[in-house]
Amino acid sequence: MTDQKKNFRRSKIGNHVLKPETQMMGYGFDPTLSEGSLKPPVFLTSTFVFESAEHGRDFFDVVSGRRDARPGEEAGLIYSRFNNPDMEVLEDRLALWDDAEMAIVYSSGMAAIYSAIMAHMKPGEVLIYSQPIYGGTETLMLNVLPKWGIKTVGFAANRSVEAIDEAFEKAAELGPIGMVLAETPANPTNGLVDIAYLASKLKDVRNSSGERPPLAVDNTFLGPVWQKPLDHGADIVLYSMTKYIGGHSDLVAGGATGPTAYLKPMKALRGAIGNQIDPHTCWMVLRSLETLKIRMEKATDNAKIIAEYLRDHDKIEKVHYLGFLEPGSDAHAVYSRQCLAPGSTFAFDVKGGQAGAFRFLNALTVLKLAVSLGGTETLISHPASTTHSGVPKELRDIAGVSDALCRVSVGIENASDLIADLEQALKQV
Ligand SMILES: *Cc1c(COP(=O)(O)O)cnc(C)c1O
Repeated sequence: MTDQKKNFRRSKIGNHVLKPETQMMGYGFDPTLSEGSLKPPVFLTSTFVFESAEHGRDFFDVVSGRRDARPGEEAGLIYSRFNNPDMEVLEDRLALWDDAEMAIVYSSGMAAIYSAIMAHMKPGEVLIYSQPIYGGTETLMLNVLPKWGIKTVGFAANRSVEAIDEAFEKAAELGPIGMVLAETPANPTNGLVDIAYLASKLKDVRNSSGERPPLAVDNTFLGPVWQKPLDHGADIVLYSMTKYIGGHSDLVAGGATGPTAYLKPMKALRGAIGNQIDPHTCWMVLRSLETLKIRMEKATDNAKIIAEYLRDHDKIEKVHYLGFLEPGSDAHAVYSRQCLAPGSTFAFDVKGGQAGAFRFLNALTVLKLAVSLGGTETLISHPASTTHSGVPKELRDIAGVSDALCRVSVGIENASDLIADLEQALKQV
């Protein structure tokens, strides 16, 4: 076998750089180590046999961080809480989408978000974050972090940069800033946060250890295909892989990508607390990554058709779709800089308040009434009474989560079938 063929982490042919959608079918997996199997098997094992006592010692030295791996030395397999072949292949492939030095995978999106915060923040420091934010993340801010002495300051997505400036001023009064977390576009309103502006604000900020605090971006809604936060100054990119990356509404998983300097402490924490993914779920996500790009492309095309149909419908008040941002507005400028497409999750207001929205939702047959998003099937939900019901009404109003708001995650069905279903259901409003 030639060296070229043996190299299972090949990234180029001559000067031609291979694209992630091609690499998902082979990168990071050496079939010769698994009986020639084309696909990575599911390695259902908790532990790995060392070739020698010396190997065991060396592996532990590397995995514990007592020393760095020597050039060409791979951190060997030890125990599936630290690493497992399925987890390693998945991490290699996830990193490719963001052109990141490294990726880490977790048992859920929340595990990824929590681990980023716990690995990088200390008691007494302040976390600045965008609002609205995923409900589980808001729960961390309100109920979990205060117990560890971490303070939080929110700022509204889709407002002027003054909202960010104010949050930085307020945070500085409370203590050293330890991290900034932005979710953009925000759920469910698609409010945008300017990633590059946050990065510029952090340049001269120092945490309690005298280091620049990291900027973390929850990229679940558009990423990794339609938004590349690392290109705009983010240090840590976070994913709920339950959504578009998993893409079939059949698993729960999370991930993080970024430079080794920011991810290494997160990996050490994962080994310590054990919130890694099991090998079988890793295998399912690997299968999903092979179709990630075509799924996101098709869903995005369908979403445009649906958004345009709804915009022209007399039973619809307003459609909050990134493709409809007004040229010349601040939001449009941010969108043009950092988003590659509008994605396929958006919200719209139905006429007639909650009663109108409920009549519409109850009449749907192809669109399924469920929370979550990013799957092959179209899901629709009523945020004010479900995912955002714990948010006080005043805050919901500020964020634009009205009683008439429905959020749709458009799937890859035939768009005309979705329209036919919407058409008959809107007659019930
Ligand atoms: C779903 C979601 C999460 C949480 O992910 P889980 O995989 O459910 O833990 C975090 N952020 C966003 C934007 C999400 O949509």
